[in-house]
Amino acid sequence: MTREAEYAGGMMDKRLQTRLWRVLLAMAIGGIVSLTTPSLSADENDFDETGLLTREGQHLRLTSDVDDALLLNDLIQSFDDSVPQWLAFWGVPESRAANWKIQGYLMRNVDTFRKSGALPNYVPRFDHGYSTPQTIWIRHQDTTYYNRHLVLHEGIHSLAFELFGAGGPSWYMEGTAELLALHRDRVPTPSKQPRSELSLNTSVLAQSMDVFTINQLPRDRLDTPGWGRYKIVAQHREAGTLPTLKSVLKLPTELNGEVEAYTWCWAASSLFTKSPESNAAFLKAARNGSDQSEAFTSEFYREVAEQWPVLSARWRLMMNDLDYGFDWSRHRVKLSTSDPRASGVPIQMRVTPDQSWQSVGVWFPKGARLRFAADGRCHVTPDWISEPAGITLEYNRGHPLGQLQVCVLPIATPAGTTIPGLDIRPVITRADMAKSTAIASEESTDESTPTMGTSVIAITEPSWVLLRINLPAGHTPVDTTPDTQEAYQVQIAPIW
Ligand SMILES: [Zn+2]
Repeated sequence: MTREAEYAGGMMDKRLQTRLWRVLLAMAIGGIVSLTTPSLSADENDFDETGLLTREGQHLRLTSDVDDALLLNDLIQSFDDSVPQWLAFWGVPESRAANWKIQGYLMRNVDTFRKSGALPNYVPRFDHGYSTPQTIWIRHQDTTYYNRHLVLHEGIHSLAFELFGAGGPSWYMEGTAELLALHRDRVPTPSKQPRSELSLNTSVLAQSMDVFTINQLPRDRLDTPGWGRYKIVAQHREAGTLPTLKSVLKLPTELNGEVEAYTWCWAASSLFTKSPESNAAFLKAARNGSDQSEAFTSEFYREVAEQWPVLSARWRLMMNDLDYGFDWSRHRVKLSTSDPRASGVPIQMRVTPDQSWQSVGVWFPKGARLRFAADGRCHVTPDWISEPAGITLEYNRGHPLGQLQVCVLPIATPAGTTIPGLDIRPVITRADMAKSTAIASEESTDESTPTMGTSVIAITEPSWVLLRINLPAGHTPVDTTPDTQEAYQVQIAPIW
């Protein structure tokens, strides 16, 4: 049976119909198929006497002076797709919002809405969007992604009013709204290939059945055009002005639409939801949403205070690495305040390419000095195999791809409002490799022996020690089967 016949025959369930509808819609936007279904294009009856267009879904009624019915359809559909996912995030039953519906305005010419009273005078001037419990206002943006992002963002504020009385203080309210507005459309963007190049074929259609998902980190710029938060992180990383996690919680109540502040709130919310030390406390805090004072933050902080050194350290690691392709599944660093103190005996560990930083598993006191030896090989691309010194033909963030790196991560975050850069160094240099090869040939032995690193790492304050293989943020290991997983074998010899 052809897809069209199934559709016409009403054999598909509602969910599948919705999905197919969105695929066709996206293709129409990309100019691939022309849509003749009357409900998908605006006709004269859709415009009211003021020339505004309205589209209505289950949870959102959207009125706009933008003459783009496809965009409006996309926005209300995305909104309806998101509501159950937001409720699931908060652990709230779907029935709780069954009758919840808000009015939205997507505005190109704000004056039109001021004059008609749709944008009342009590709503202050704003650059992107504004929300009240029943109504959201969005300024029209250049990209479909960012229009959607803002409609979802403001809608989450309204839903928080409905469910919890409000969204908590600004860091929490804006952080969760950004987190839950960040989404991936169900038409995938093949990497390095613009959307318009998608062709109508079965494989694209099959892939397109991926659900519309919120709370996603962008894989590349094409996932979130117009969003641009990673650029801000990179700029502050270079300038050495990344904020501490504690200073994010102290952001003022009024953020005045500052993109920087929104970036930090979002990143902190992402960290708190993805860290086992804070996930439950972060979600629970939403229930106190009507309290927008410092007491909200104090209570949340109390819940996670014991684990704060770990969270703060995770934040430093995250801020150093956050970029397109960053994926929490590669950043599950085993850090704990109850890690044992290093005993002074040599430690052996395997460093694998499936994870970014990997802890040695103990903490080292001030005065400890560490020497490393390493061997092993691993694929850094399908074609390139690296040893611990890395390959100098390809670089990632200024260092050879595949390089074994060590990070001495102090347990205490320094006081102040900005975080210091991480102390990251190569474990084995190319000179170490050359020396090791020379010794091996002198002794004419074929057995591979670990290469000794010549540098000694001095620990100047109580610290965790982490190791990783230098790989790009979105790296997928070439070989992931457990029996044969590639790794560098590392020996750590403490001297003190
Ligand atoms: Zn907001």
